[in-house]
Amino acid sequence: MSKSNIIVQKYGGSSVANPKRIAAVAKRIVGYHKKGHDVVVVVSALGDTTDELLKLVRKITRTPSEREIDMLISTGEQISVALLAMAIHRLGYEAKSFTGAQVGIITDSTHTKARIIKINTSTIKRQLAQKNIAIVAGFQGVDVSKEITTLGRGGSDLTAVALAKALKARSCEIYTDVEGIYTADPRIEPKARKLDNVCYDEMLEMASLGAQVLQTRCVELAKRFNIPIVVKSSFTNKGGTMISPEVKAMEKVVVRAVTLNKNEVKITMRDLPDRPGVAAKIFQEIADQGINVDMIVQNISRTGYTDLSFTAAKDNLSKTLRVGRAVSAEIGGGDVIADKDVARLSIVGVGMKSHSGIAAGMFEALADNKINIEMISTSEISISCVIKKKYAVRAVRALHKKFKLDKV
Ligand code: ASP
Ligand code: MG
Repeated sequence: MSKSNIIVQKYGGSSVANPKRIAAVAKRIVGYHKKGHDVVVVVSALGDTTDELLKLVRKITRTPSEREIDMLISTGEQISVALLAMAIHRLGYEAKSFTGAQVGIITDSTHTKARIIKINTSTIKRQLAQKNIAIVAGFQGVDVSKEITTLGRGGSDLTAVALAKALKARSCEIYTDVEGIYTADPRIEPKARKLDNVCYDEMLEMASLGAQVLQTRCVELAKRFNIPIVVKSSFTNKGGTMISPEVKAMEKVVVRAVTLNKNEVKITMRDLPDRPGVAAKIFQEIADQGINVDMIVQNISRTGYTDLSFTAAKDNLSKTLRVGRAVSAEIGGGDVIADKDVARLSIVGVGMKSHSGIAAGMFEALADNKINIEMISTSEISISCVIKKKYAVRAVRALHKKFKLDKV
């Protein structure tokens, strides 16, 4: 990255959850401004605002228009940017808040999960030239017909990384309510340790496997353009976690973190005819509905019929069941059932590429704890098991111990 003086800082919902916290964030921002940085701030909606707005939607209709969802949930960030600007004014400094549209964040038209196409940086640059602090609403943009779009849940992270790239910022800092990326969720495993460095690939796996600190798409973007991200707490002054290309010291450590994802369901399609083309048809129809499936397991059939299980996001459950049942009826299959009582447990580490026996170690730790494994999947740098939700906490702790993650 070139040596501009611009730093992009993103503050998450919990960092601006109430007026006191907004005031504290304002003070922090002014501190960087006083040191001579050109500060561009991205903010999420206050606390759980987005969830609350989506709850309201469900009270009105079960089939909302996605355009109107974006119209609604983009308001959350518009509130927080304005309040933060006021809090900065109160400290005697110049700041101006902007919506995504105002700063030229142009996206495609995929409502609720739009992709950023380009950013016109002139508005922000003009602010910075006047020594103003620029505050940008996260999570939102506008398509070429001026329709408001949002970038998917957690999308303010993406706004921050995209702005860091467009502005050639010298750093991109994501402020949150934890001190960085941990070896496990510290609320589950008190012995979890904060990691100083994580490489993009590990972070990508961790984000998609359930570590909720960063949005997956923002890590993809950071990796593609080689933009280092620092994740740190907005409540302390500690160093945080640096996310960057691979770091040498990591090679020694095989397993870096244990993650848990409770937002998936297991869908089983029973008695499907065992013939070529069945899986292709099922997953094509599911994909056509924009549903992402994850682990897939199919048993060998003895009778000409087979069971097929896969995991999908809980949010898509009714849609997935609807499609699954329609396809099953069409091809002469049986029941389609959902198991919501599952959790996906994963271990992640780039060192796995060159080590063997890691999977066996994971299964052994689960067996020692009498935890049954329902599904397994692996990538080059992760291993995941689906287990019953009630064993999730015990399983995380068992793996944390097994792979000695509490030790440096
Ligand atoms: N407020 C949005 C959400 O809760 C975006 C964000 O927080 O990054 O998903
Ligand atoms: Mg949020």
